[in-house]
Parts: sequence; C-alpha cells; structure tokens
Amino acid sequence: MSTSAQTPAPGVPRRLRIAVIGAGMAGILAAIRLKASAEHEVVVFEKADRIGGTWRENTYPGLTCDVPAHAYTYSFAPNPDWSSYLAPGPEIQRYFEALVRRYGIAPLIRFGCAIESCRFDDEGRRWTITDSAGRQDDFDVVIAATGVLHHPNTPVLPGLDDFAGECFHSARWDHGVALDGRRIAVIGSGSTGVQITSALAGRAARLYHIQRTPQWIMPMPNQPYTDAQRAAFRADPGLIDEIRYGDHYTGLVRRFTRAIIDADSPEMLEIEAIVRDNLERSVRDPALREALRPNYRAACKRLIYSSDYYEKIQHPDVEAVVGRIECIEPEGVRMKDGSLKPADVLVLATGFQADRFVRPIKVSGRDGADLDAQWSPSPSAYLGIALPDFPNFFMINGPTGPVGNFSLIDIAERQWAYIEQLLAPLARGECALVELRAETLRDYDRRRIAAARRTIFASGCASWYLDATGVPASWPWSYEEFVDCTAQPNPADYLFMA
Ligand SMILES: Cc1cc2nc3c(=O)[nH]c(=O)nc-3n(C[C@H](O)[C@H](O)[C@H](O)COP(=O)(O)OP(=O)(O)OC[C@H]3O[C@@H](n4cnc5c(N)ncnc54)[C@H](O)[C@@H]3O)c2cc1C
Repeated sequence: MSTSAQTPAPGVPRRLRIAVIGAGMAGILAAIRLKASAEHEVVVFEKADRIGGTWRENTYPGLTCDVPAHAYTYSFAPNPDWSSYLAPGPEIQRYFEALVRRYGIAPLIRFGCAIESCRFDDEGRRWTITDSAGRQDDFDVVIAATGVLHHPNTPVLPGLDDFAGECFHSARWDHGVALDGRRIAVIGSGSTGVQITSALAGRAARLYHIQRTPQWIMPMPNQPYTDAQRAAFRADPGLIDEIRYGDHYTGLVRRFTRAIIDADSPEMLEIEAIVRDNLERSVRDPALREALRPNYRAACKRLIYSSDYYEKIQHPDVEAVVGRIECIEPEGVRMKDGSLKPADVLVLATGFQADRFVRPIKVSGRDGADLDAQWSPSPSAYLGIALPDFPNFFMINGPTGPVGNFSLIDIAERQWAYIEQLLAPLARGECALVELRAETLRDYDRRRIAAARRTIFASGCASWYLDATGVPASWPWSYEEFVDCTAQPNPADYLFMA
C-alpha cells in the first residue's frame, strides 16, 4: 500500500498524484499529455493485460471505424500510414500500441489492475483507490477513462444456454470457432451486426441476419490508400489536415449535428433523402426492400455507415430475418412467426450497456456521496466531465457527452484540454479541491433534457441513446456548442476549496 499523496499546503505549488483508470483511447490520451507536461506523478490502472479498450476487445470480422481514419487519430499524432479511408479495427489497435511505445507511457500503466472502488477521504482530501486484489493507493486526482461502450449487453433470450453450437458476444469473438461453410446467425442490427454480416456473407454456408428493427444505411465508400497516397501524406502533412480539418469532413460533422438537434432541418431532410434513395436503389426485391425499410426516422438510432451491406444481404446464402425472436433452441433461433433459423454459430451483436460508464466501480465522494445514488435513475455529468460532490474526480467520455457519427477522439481531446485547466489551480497550490457546483449540473440537466427531447433521438425509436427515463443521453446541442463549452472552464461553475 502506498499513501504518497500529500496533504496540500495552501499557496505552495505541488506535484499532483493522478490516477487514470483505463488505458483505452481516452486514458492513453491523458497519460501522454500528463507525461509530456512532466509536472505530476501518474499511474494508469488497466484491468486487462494490454492497452486499447474498444479496439483490443472488439476483433470481429469486418470491424471498421466509421469515421475517416485521419480524423480518428489524436491531433498531435497524425498517421500517414492508414491503409484506407476508414481504418480496420486491428490497425487502430496497432496505432494506439505504437503511440504507447513512442510516448513511453507503458511504465506508467499497471496492467491486470481492475479498480473496484474510489473513496474520497474528507479529512486527507484525497482519493483512495482499491483494486480487485485489495491493493490500495492514494491520489489527489482521479481521471476515469473507463469507456462508454465497454460492458457487453447479453440479451435475455429463453433457451440461450441450451444452444448446441457455439455462441459468443461480438465483443468477445471466439477466433477458435470455424466460420467458413457453416450456418451462422447474427443477432442485432447496429453497426456491429451490419459489419459482421457484410464480412461473413459468402463465407458462411447460410447466414441469417436477425434484426428486430432494420436500420437506415448511409452509403460510405471506403477506398484503400495507395502507396503513392501514403507517401504523399508523409511528405505533406497538410494533406492529412485537409481530410481531418477540411470542409468535407468537418462540414459533414457540422451538418450531421445540426440535423440531430433539429429534426426538421434541411440537413436532416437531406440525410433522409440519401438513406431512402440508398434503400430504393440498392435492394432489388420489393418484398426485401419493404422488410428492410425502417419505420422510424433516419439517425433516430445511431446511423449505420456501410458501402456494401445492401449488396451483401442480397447474397444468395444470406437471409435478412426481420422480426422478434421467440427463443433459442439447441439447433437454432426460433422466430415469433414460428420459423426456425438453424445455426451452428450464434453471434450476439447486441451492443453494450451504455449507461454504465465508471460503474461497477463503487465511487464515494465528499461526505460519503454515492455515485450510484447520484446516477439513479440515469447518469449525467457536466459536459461529460464533472460531478458535484466528487471533488478532483473527472471523466473523459462520461455521460451526456457527444456520442454519434463523428470522432470520439476529438471529443476526448477537448474534454482533456478542459480538465487540464481545472488541474492548473490545484498544481499552483491555489486550492486543494475543485468540485462542480450542484447548481451547475442542475441547470445543465434542465437545459439538456429540454433540448434532448427535441432531438432526432427522441423521435420515437428505441435506441441505446435513451436513458432509463427515455431521455436521449447524448449531447443535445451542436458540435460548435460543445467546442465553445469545453474551451475554458467557467470559474463560476466550480467550487475551489482550500
Ligand atoms: C464496435 C465499436 C465500434 C466503434 N466505432 C467507433 C467509431 O467508428 N468512431 C468513434 O469515434 N468511436 C467508435 N467507437 C467508440 C469507442 O469506444 C471510442 O471511440 C473509444 O475507443 C473510447 O475510448 P475510451 O478510452 O473512452 O474507452 P474504452 O476504449 O472502452 O477503454 C476503456 C478502458 O478502461 C478499462 N477499464 C474499464 N473499467 C476498468 C476498471 N474498473 N479498472 C481498470 N480498467 C478499467 C477497460 O479495460 C478499457 O481498456 C466504437 C465502439 C465500439 C464498441
């Protein structure tokens, strides 16, 4: 046990002891930034034995980032070597691993350390962190970078345990299971289910894509980069900037976020026209076309980007099964209409418990405040970052931050730059604790919930964007608004305590 966080002396600059929980994209970002500043002592806790988070755990066939690769990179670490416009998952994992080496942050990471609790000590004004082996350590500051889509959601399906073949969640892909020439049922029509179906079409003897609700599909061509293009990116980083910051991609993000917050905007009508046209043009059989036509508005659920799903779903060995599942039987999936979809392999592309965030870590803050209680019935955090009653505790990609069809790396970088500014007065010794004011969160939530009800996410579909009270939990304002709000903390929003 180490207790090296010191009780702060007023006015004396200090080296903070900072715990970062999680070594995915967000935790790596914090570690790189903190190491570069060399001001503080940093320990990163990672429960797995490797970095990478999402890109370590998701290894399913077809996994592709649906944000242009050059935009899904840290702004300070462009990568001229991406193989294609949209990067495959394993390449993203390698990108993060290379950066961990390049920035020398591996020594900061304690692997195999699953944090179970964070407890704020009112007297010592520091956090005690405990891992699953009972090891404890004290810190001045906790950065929770524990992920958004991290805890697999396993559906409650009668008979699932009796399935005679192989069954796994898409985020726990079993690479020992043979796929070629077998009968495979993929359950779920989110981005993952669509990507897996596209990848396995033509490989499986019979492939069922089982979906309760079909999805709107936004066509998104994905071109491989040639050696010449990669050489050009290396020679002229301005070409990379043009993709990342140029009008094409940023225009898309701006138009998309504008569409989301105003369901009747010209931008939303344009999205609807594109996805409708995609369906009309791409699916030849009228009966299949109608089966695949969603009965809710585009972008109500996270929009699916795919260049080949409609083509692959029309492959002779592939069947789109739109409807509800009655149960799983040893030999396959029994649908409510009575039909059986016989399968050797069952893939649960059924998403994640998107409301977990830091949990199941037990977090207790000032005066014993309990995070679970604060987040009941649904979690929120100011700008996805800060909470009242939890001083010196900050999140990256916490609840209510923007999650959608754009780069979460950009969002995480903005949140981190904001957090850095909150750490500065602590480091200067101007205060020992920074804590969000309760009224800041109250006012934010009042405005956020009112705005969320007007977004496309609230237009009448079920999706993982909705919290337990049915309110869309994602950032309900424009991208520009998020940029403005995270540019600089407003001191009036916080308590700075000695
Ligand atoms: C299939 C899939 C596709 C995606 N595609 C895109 C995309 O195209 N574009 C996009 O912007 N985003 C996409 N995302 C979202 C993606 O999750 C984020 O872009 C990003 O990877 C999140 O990084 P993170 O560090 O916040 O979380 P994660 O990557 O989830 O990392 C969290 C880390 O924290 C660790 N951790 C959690 N709890 C504990 C604990 N108690 N103790 C110790 N360690 C802990 C985990 O092991 C993990 O390593 C996708 C997500 C999924 C699942």
